[in-house]
Amino acid sequence: MFIKSWNKKDPSIVAGMTTKNGGFSTDTFSSFNLGLHVNDNQQNVIKNREKLASLLSFPTSNWACGEQVHDNKIMEITKAHTGMGVYDYKESLKGVDGFYTKDPNILLTTCYADCVPLFFMEPKRNLLGIAHAGWKGTVKNIGGEMIRVWVEKEGVALEDIYAVIGPSIGGCCYVVDDYVIDFVREVSPSPNVVYSEVEKGQYSLNLKELNKQLLQQAGLVSEKIEVTKYCTSCDHSIFFSHRRDNGNTGRMLSFIGRKEG
Ligand SMILES: [Zn+2]
Repeated sequence: MFIKSWNKKDPSIVAGMTTKNGGFSTDTFSSFNLGLHVNDNQQNVIKNREKLASLLSFPTSNWACGEQVHDNKIMEITKAHTGMGVYDYKESLKGVDGFYTKDPNILLTTCYADCVPLFFMEPKRNLLGIAHAGWKGTVKNIGGEMIRVWVEKEGVALEDIYAVIGPSIGGCCYVVDDYVIDFVREVSPSPNVVYSEVEKGQYSLNLKELNKQLLQQAGLVSEKIEVTKYCTSCDHSIFFSHRRDNGNTGRMLSFIGRKEG
């Protein structure tokens, strides 16, 4: 599935997220598993990755792949960083959960099964970014970190930044305990909007809304932030879900890049 609003703004942008359907993997990974680190047959994952590269016309040698350690580190990607970790998870870019690039023909990729994909675009200078925000990356404010890097290091104007919050587990299905909620209370500008107690010590948490709050706190106005309604757990015919499938499941891949020449 693609982010159609951005593609309308600039047809050279290739941005979106895969679904669980249309690939070669079997059983619990059926069928379009794009994660190498989840005990699926590696040859099937590689076939799935090559299929996606062909569907997007973005060769795997131009993909950026990160280790995804639930931290908030953002890395600028140039051609020198691409191609690593596409066929072997151990070779992926270490300690990174967020990427951005100023260069065309690079596909920034991150894998998901409930965590929140954050997409970023700055159309004047052609910056593109992507960040992986599970609850840990969210409370470490990886989205705000991307904005900070773009403004402070790249000199981007806040009003030129657009963001999309992609499919993740929704508040409908995501129940957490006090340990998580203590972090949420610390970082959320209005915590009562993002969680509610469902039983003693158990809370439903809306990670997408928390990410939106943190992006607004970092300076984006609400009109520049699109939020999907999809829930990876509810929408079981479309998505893998780590929670719903008890950890034994595949990964969707989110991607963003710009084609030129
Ligand atoms: Zn749900």
